[in-house]
Amino acid sequence: MNHSNTLEADWLELFDNVPEATRGVLREVVRAHKESMADAFYARMLGDPDAHPFLTHEAVETRLRHSMQRWLETLFSCTDRAQFAVAMAIQRHVGEVHARIDLPVNIVARGARVLKAEIARHLLAAGLSGQALIDAVLYADNLMDLAFEEMSAAYVASHEHVARIDEAYRAFSFGQNLSLERERQRAALLDWENRFLHDMMTGSAGDPLPRLTESAFGLWLHHKATAIFEGAPELPAIRQAIRTIDDDLIPQCQAKLGGPERDTQRRLTKAVLSELGQLKFLLGTLFERFVELESGKDALTQLLNRRFLPAILSREADISRRQHKPFALLLLDVDHFKHINDQHGHEAGDRVLQHIASLILATVRAGDFVFRYGGEEFLALLVEVDLTHALRIAEKLRSRIESENVLLPNGASLKLTASIGVAVHDGHPDYQRLINRADEALYRAKQQGRNRCVVSDA
Ligand code: GH3
Ligand code: MG
Ligand code: MG
Repeated sequence: MNHSNTLEADWLELFDNVPEATRGVLREVVRAHKESMADAFYARMLGDPDAHPFLTHEAVETRLRHSMQRWLETLFSCTDRAQFAVAMAIQRHVGEVHARIDLPVNIVARGARVLKAEIARHLLAAGLSGQALIDAVLYADNLMDLAFEEMSAAYVASHEHVARIDEAYRAFSFGQNLSLERERQRAALLDWENRFLHDMMTGSAGDPLPRLTESAFGLWLHHKATAIFEGAPELPAIRQAIRTIDDDLIPQCQAKLGGPERDTQRRLTKAVLSELGQLKFLLGTLFERFVELESGKDALTQLLNRRFLPAILSREADISRRQHKPFALLLLDVDHFKHINDQHGHEAGDRVLQHIASLILATVRAGDFVFRYGGEEFLALLVEVDLTHALRIAEKLRSRIESENVLLPNGASLKLTASIGVAVHDGHPDYQRLINRADEALYRAKQQGRNRCVVSDA
């Protein structure tokens, strides 16, 4: 039984043990007083020196007070499994946001305490007493605890994820030598291939053919690669290729070794070499991906890889919060890029991406960060700028892209435009929100006809 099922089972048991009438009172109390409960919660949190750094009056006024009310209502009005599932999904989302802003879990527990006290107070005021009051308070407390549990589970999972990326960010600065490792493993594979070919040509029946699993490459893959390349999609494919060679093809080769069927031997040898070719290709892709990551650069454009975006963004949000200096994101998407690929080929498309990357780098300042965000999307983090300044840089970039044609590999000169979404950090510690705002602004820039900069008004 997984974690969510356990919570649901616990909730159902709890639910069935409390009379509907009592639950109804609780539901109504929360619905009627959610506003004052949220007020009490934020009054306490804003006055709390530990919680204060994570909140601004403005954020509380414009968003958080309302989210808290919605949160209360959703949680306390669950009457069936589906509604409970929705409520728990919200807890997971909240837990992930808390992890991104690095909110200590004891502060969340403190907040839960405030809410529990508020709910109990309102239940008393609503005239509940005796067993009904006990039931209602217990139900409310347990429901809050279930929510907290789900929130914490998501928090822990995402916090570990952020920490791992952070770790990767640090590791890439030291740089373990992956390029060297790649050459070593290529050589190890070649070694095995030579031995295999030699044994196939000269071996007699009964001579054992070499297994890839037992080769230097096989040992490296089994013991080291799994740690270095954790989660890479090429790994299982490489393991599968090894199994095909060792468990399927080699035994067939072994059966024919030294025998008279030269054609069958040749066919089997070819099959092994072809599987090995596939394996080498996968290994190349695997290393390429990680060598790129190791250098922190995107191979095509030499810009920062987006994998480091969370680490860099959360650090900048932190600096900005401490120094009270805003920063901004520009999210840029090349206009009608598909058309360029279709008309002039993929190579021309790649050239366009390099051209745009160099224009962005030439326009921003040395202290800014530029990421390849997606296929033909770029993200610039402009440090210590206000909206006016950010918009000036965005506009300068847009007009440079429009005026400086790109020279294609075939000699043709091509006119380009791009759309840019601009969002200035508003002090909200959840950086994902800032990216979303830039993305919405970009979407509007496209809607309004492309080749323009649009500012997020959220
Ligand atoms: P829009 O103005 O709405 O942005 O139109 P668009 O054609 O640019 O639309 P969209 O953003 O959906 O197209 C992105 C295309 O970029 C799709 C994909 O084939 C191409 N692409 C993604 N990555 C690369 C790459 O690395 N090189 C090349 N040449 N093309 C890429
Ligand atoms: Mg796009
Ligand atoms: Mg595009």
